[in-house]
Amino acid sequence: MEELAEEIQVKNNLDVVETRRFLKQNLSKQTTPVLITVLGTTIPDAIKIWFINKKIQHFIDRPRQCTKCYSLAHPSRTCDKDNVCFRCSEIHTGPCQGPKKCMNCTGPHNAKLNLCPAYIREKKILELKCQNHITTGEARRMIQSQNMNYSESVKVLPASAELQETVASKFEALIQSVNEKFEGLLQAVNEKLETQTATFVNVLHKTIESIMQKHV
Ligand SMILES: [Zn+2]
Ligand SMILES: [Zn+2]
Ligand SMILES: [Zn+2]
Repeated sequence: MEELAEEIQVKNNLDVVETRRFLKQNLSKQTTPVLITVLGTTIPDAIKIWFINKKIQHFIDRPRQCTKCYSLAHPSRTCDKDNVCFRCSEIHTGPCQGPKKCMNCTGPHNAKLNLCPAYIREKKILELKCQNHITTGEARRMIQSQNMNYSESVKVLPASAELQETVASKFEALIQSVNEKFEGLLQAVNEKLETQTATFVNVLHKTIESIMQKHV
């Protein structure tokens, strides 16, 4: 793994923070995916490894559910509840008698359903987090302000959207300046080539002329 990290770091000019192999049962070690954490705010679409351009799959976390009470809001280790029924969200022993009720959205389904609106919302938050390289809290606020805007139909850009726009325009400006620089460089190279060719042609002409004169 160290070898891999070094290879990626050197060939791609990336600061590799961590590489971790996903361990899966019934899979040989050679074919398991690897999680690569790099420093920075952008991720390339592909990386070069041992002369191969490898397309990267961005890692998106799945929502974690508390195994004690089935809440999506906290991990099991901080949960003080126990024996919560995932079908009716009540604490009871024996078979479930109550109507189905989701503890996350209070809808009439069990709390493990991945079509639950609360689960979908958590999934969106994690996608947003991974795609924009922000914290879970920031992603949550973005989703919250988006939802608020939809419901209130207020035509005011939330702070996060404004920020996104500035980032986008700055990025465009950066690309433009890079393009301009590159074009400038290309032109300079072309001009140099042209003058060199012209000089060469001149020299050639003079040589031919002198040869011809000598023979006259
Ligand atoms: Zn819990
Ligand atoms: Zn129950
Ligand atoms: Zn639900």
